[in-house]
Amino acid sequence: MAEPQRVGDVPEDVDTDDCMTSYTHIYSPDLLKDQVAFITGGGSGIGLRIAEVLMRHGCDTVIASRNFEKLTEAAKKLTAATGRHCLPLTIDVRQPQTISAAVDETLKELGRIDILINNAAGNFLCPATSLSFNAFKTVLEIDTMGTFNTSKVVYEKWFKDHGGAIVNISATLGYRGQALQVHAGSAKAANDAMTKHLAVEWGPSGVRVNTLAPGPISGTEGFRRLGGNRADSMGAFSSIPLQRAGNKTEMAHSVLFLASRASSYVTGHIMVADGGSWLTSANDVSMLLGIASSQSAKL
Ligand code: NAP
Repeated sequence: MAEPQRVGDVPEDVDTDDCMTSYTHIYSPDLLKDQVAFITGGGSGIGLRIAEVLMRHGCDTVIASRNFEKLTEAAKKLTAATGRHCLPLTIDVRQPQTISAAVDETLKELGRIDILINNAAGNFLCPATSLSFNAFKTVLEIDTMGTFNTSKVVYEKWFKDHGGAIVNISATLGYRGQALQVHAGSAKAANDAMTKHLAVEWGPSGVRVNTLAPGPISGTEGFRRLGGNRADSMGAFSSIPLQRAGNKTEMAHSVLFLASRASSYVTGHIMVADGGSWLTSANDVSMLLGIASSQSAKL
C-alpha cells in the first residue's frame, strides 16, 4: 500500500483506491457524529476518499454504484480504517427503482440519511465529431438525470420531513468550453443549474443544496486519462495559480465543509476547488487531441 504524504498545508492522500494510513484532522472528529451519508460512486476515486473522510468525522456511510464486488471491497477497507459502518449497495443512477430500493435499505439498516453526495459520473475524452449520439445521451443520463433521480428519491423518502444536505460533484469544464468534453461539460452545467433550482425549492424543508467543482485531482481515473502524471512531471501545472494538481483528500475536505453544519447558512452555492486552474490553464485542442489519441491507442 502506498504511504500517505503530507506536504506543508496539503493533507495526506494515497493515489490508489485505498484508505490513508494516517490522517490529521482539521475539523472536530465529532463533526458528523452518528450521521449517515449516502454517496453515489463511493467505491472509487474521489467518492471513496469522501466516504473515508466523512467516516473519520463520525459518520456512517452507504456507498452505491453498479459494481458490487468493488463496493464490498471498498466498504471493508473503509470500516477497517475508520471503525464506522459502511453499507455497500448496488444502484444504477439511471434507474430510479434501483435508487428507491437502496434508499429503503439504507433507512432500514441505518435509520436515517443526513447527507447525500451525488458523485457518480461517466468519464472519457472525446472530440464532438467522434462522439456518438448515444455516448452523449449516456453521460447526460448518468451525470445529470442520475443527480436528479437520486436527489428526488432521497428528498421524498427522508429529507422532505427531516432536512439534510446535498452536495453535488461537478467540474469546471463548461466554464471555458474545455476541448473534448462537450458531454461532461454540458451535463455538469445542467447540474450547476439544478443545484440552484433545488436549493430554492427545498430550502424551506431544511435542505441545503450545494456543489463542489474540482479541478485536476491526482489519484483518479480522470487524472490518468488526461495524462496528469506525465503533465505533472513535465511541469505543466506551473501554469496553474497554485502550481500543482489537487488531491482527493482536499476534495473531501471541501465536501465536509458543504455537508456539515460548518456551512449551515450556505445553499445554492457552486464552490470551485481547482487551485485557480480554470482561470489560467490552456484549452488547447491539438494538445488534448494528442492525449486522446494516445489514450485510445492504449485501449
Ligand atoms: P471514478 O473513480 O470513475 O468515479 C465515478 C464513480 O461513478 C465510480 O465509482 C462508478 O462506479 C460510479 N458510476 C458510474 N456510472 C454509474 C451509474 N450509472 N450508476 C451508479 N454509479 C455509477 O471517477 P472520479 O475521478 O473519482 O470522479 C468522481 C467525481 O468527480 C465525478 O463526478 C467527476 O465528474 C468529478 N470530477 C473529477 C475530476 C478528476 O480530476 N478526477 C475533476 C473534476 C470533476 P461503478 O462503476 O461501480 O458504477
